[in-house]
Amino acid sequence: MGSHGATIPPHVLIFPLPVQGHVNTMLKLAELLCLSSLDVTFMVSDFSHSRLLKHSTVISRFEQYPGFRFESISDGLPDDHPRAGEQAMDILPSTKNITGPLFKQMMIEKNLLSSDTRRPVTCIIADGVLSFACDFAEEKGIPLIFFRTISACSFWAYFCIPELIAAGEIPLKAGIGKDQIVNSVPGMEGFLRYRDLPSFCQVNDINEPKLHIIESETRQTTRAQAVILNTFEDLEGAIVSHIRKHIPRIFTIGPNNAHLKSRLAQKESEKSILSSSFWEEDRSCIDWLNEQPPKSVIYVSFGSITVVSRDQLLEFWHGLVNSGQRFLWVMRPDSIVGEDKKNQIPVELEEGTKARGYMVEWAPQEEVLNNAAVGGFLTHSGWNSTLESIVAGVPMICWPYFADQTINSRFVSEVWKIGFDVKDTCDREIIEKVVRELIEVRKNEFMERAENMAKLARKAVSEGGSSYCNFDGLIDYIKAMVI
Ligand code: UDP
Repeated sequence: MGSHGATIPPHVLIFPLPVQGHVNTMLKLAELLCLSSLDVTFMVSDFSHSRLLKHSTVISRFEQYPGFRFESISDGLPDDHPRAGEQAMDILPSTKNITGPLFKQMMIEKNLLSSDTRRPVTCIIADGVLSFACDFAEEKGIPLIFFRTISACSFWAYFCIPELIAAGEIPLKAGIGKDQIVNSVPGMEGFLRYRDLPSFCQVNDINEPKLHIIESETRQTTRAQAVILNTFEDLEGAIVSHIRKHIPRIFTIGPNNAHLKSRLAQKESEKSILSSSFWEEDRSCIDWLNEQPPKSVIYVSFGSITVVSRDQLLEFWHGLVNSGQRFLWVMRPDSIVGEDKKNQIPVELEEGTKARGYMVEWAPQEEVLNNAAVGGFLTHSGWNSTLESIVAGVPMICWPYFADQTINSRFVSEVWKIGFDVKDTCDREIIEKVVRELIEVRKNEFMERAENMAKLARKAVSEGGSSYCNFDGLIDYIKAMVI
C-alpha cells in the first residue's frame, strides 16, 4: 500500500482522443468512476477544454466530486485548424508527435499528478488510438487499460486487416464490385460486403499508409492489461467473443450514457443528462418538438465531424421536404463545404421547411432522441449517435460518412434490423422513400424492434445486467492494482 493509507482511493487518469464523440463517452466513464469514489484526472486538449468551458455544464457538474480534476494539453493542431471532415484525422499524427512528448513531460513534472489528497496515478485509461500513452505506462510501470470508443464490430474488422489482406479481400480486385461479400472477418460471413468495411480498409493500394496505421494501432491494443468497450452483450456479444480470443480481459460496460443514468438514479441524484457539447446547444428545438405529434419527427444530424457538399445538402433537403414528414435538422456552421449555404436555396425548400421543419446549429441530442415526438433518426452512424438512438428506441436511416460508420450502418440494417442503410447514395428520391417507409409505411415494425433493443440496453445497465456487473468487475480490478 506504500505511504498512502487504505482510505485514499485509486487515482485513474482518463485520456480521450480530444474530439467530441470520444470526449462525450469518456466523460461519462469519468463520472461513473467518480460515483464509485475513485479519484479521476481527465486529460483534455486546450481546444476542447475551452469549448467545454464555453458551451457545456461539465466544469460545474464535476465540482461536486472532490477527487476529480481536469488537466489540459495541446492537441498539436493550430487554433484555426478546421478539425472537421477528412482533416479531422490530422489529430492522430499531431497527438502522437506533439501531445505525446508533452504528456510525458507533464506527468513527470507534476509527479504523476499527485497532490496532498491524491495518490500518483495508479491506472491509465487511454483512448485505444493513443498508443503513446501505452509507451509511457510501460516505461513507468503503470497499469494501462484501453478504451475503444468504437463498436465491437468495427474494432473486430480492423483487427482482421491482416487476414483480409492475406485472403486477397482488400484491396478490391480489379473488375469486382463493392457488393462483393467479404469472408475474412469471423462472425460476419455472408452479410458483410466490401462497401461495409470501415472506410479506412477500402483502399486501392495495399501500401496505403492509413490502412497500416489503423492496423498497427488496433493490434497494439493487446498491449493493455484490459480493454473497455462501449457496447453491451445482447447487442454485440457474439462479436466480442471473437475479440476475447485475442484480448481475454474485456469489459463491455455500455451504453455509457444509459449506464450513467442508471447509476445516478440509484444514488437518487436528480441529475440531468451530462452535456459535454463543444457547440452551444440550441434548446429552442425542444420547445418545437414539444408541439409536434408523437413519433412524427425525423431527427437529422451527422455528428461533429461529417461535412456535406452543397449538392448533397440539397438532395437531403429535397428528400426530406418531399417526404411530407416533419423534420428537425442539425446543420453545424462548419458542416457545409463549398459555397455559402444560404445562396440560392430553392423557394420550395424554404417553404417546406417553414411548414414542417426546424433547423438548429447544434442540439441537445440525447434529449432530442428521448423526446416523444421523435420517430426516426437520419444519422451518419457515429457510434455514440447509434447507441444513443438504440437506448432511446429510435429507428435509424444511416448515411455513413467514413471510418467505423460504414460497418455500424450495416449492423443497424442487416443484423439488428432497426433501420435502413443508404450508404454510398445521396439521392432525393431515395431519401424521400426511406423517410416515408421508416416513419409511416413500416413504422410499427421498426418501432417494435427498436423498442425491444432499447429494453435490452436498459436491462444491461440495470442492477444485475451484463454491463452493470462488468463495470463492478472493472472497479474491483482497478482497486486491486493498488493493493
Ligand atoms: N451531438 C450533440 N448535438 C448535436 C450533434 C451531435 O450533442 O447536434 C453529440 C451526440 O449526442 C454524440 C456526439 O455528438 O454524443 C457525436 O458522436 P458520434 O460518435 O455519433 O459521431 P462523431 O461526431 O464522432 O462523428
